Amino acid sequence: MPEHPSEYQEHVLNAPDVCSNCFRLVRVERERPASGFRPAETFYARNQATTSVEHAPADTVSESEAVFCACGAESAFDRIWSWRDVNRERFHELLKHLLRSAERKGLSIARQPAAAHALASHEQRHERDDAQVRVECDVDAALADGLLAGLRVANVRAGADATTV
Ligand SMILES: [Zn+2]
Repeated sequence: MPEHPSEYQEHVLNAPDVCSNCFRLVRVERERPASGFRPAETFYARNQATTSVEHAPADTVSESEAVFCACGAESAFDRIWSWRDVNRERFHELLKHLLRSAERKGLSIARQPAAAHALASHEQRHERDDAQVRVECDVDAALADGLLAGLRVANVRAGADATTV
């Protein structure tokens, strides 16, 4: 597995709330209110919009319930596809899920530059593959390019807003 920029690694691939297979947000932060002597605390609950509880093969019946993402992945760290399965339409869909999840996680993302960078990066990597160079089209690297660009532009805009006020 190649190394990716730390932002992408942290917010997406290593994050327990983002599915590594389809980039949907599979867990959401919830707050458990304070009661008695227990202080309020936040925890991750499954995102009911994107996941379902299904039966999975297990040793005993009681252990067989698991949380599945709408894409079919059981764990946020599972990946079912390979880069060869990701055509342009599929890439668009992955990108859409990624940007939506990042926003729902509270990251400031400039959508337009993020999408433009990711698509250009993916396109470029595919061209190289079409030219029989046989480089692996690194979908993660293209998405990481987009995410990074989106974060940077949003950051710059926030800075510009702060100085003009
Ligand atoms: Zn998924």
